[in-house]
Amino acid sequence: MGAGLLVLLYVGLLWALPAYVAERIGEGKQRPGLVWWGICLGWAGVAVAACMADGVGRDAGRCPHCLSLIPRQATRCRHCAGAVTPLPPDR
Ligand SMILES: [Zn+2]
Repeated sequence: MGAGLLVLLYVGLLWALPAYVAERIGEGKQRPGLVWWGICLGWAGVAVAACMADGVGRDAGRCPHCLSLIPRQATRCRHCAGAVTPLPPDR
């Protein structure tokens, strides 16, 4: 096995895969920035991402038409394209 293949395995298993997993966790938790935890910390970042509380309620609102979670300041739902009233940013 050449060094190039080892590097490829290293990058794939310790960097790209945790970044992808962190991204998926972030989607479920309405926290799109979680991909960076996977990129910066690898599997430790995934563990951190998994332990994080949902972003819901702090920076997300719920569409009255389809009940999907959407950004608080959105004027149109990204899921059903229904018009929604923007909520003031939570402080
Ligand atoms: Zn909707």
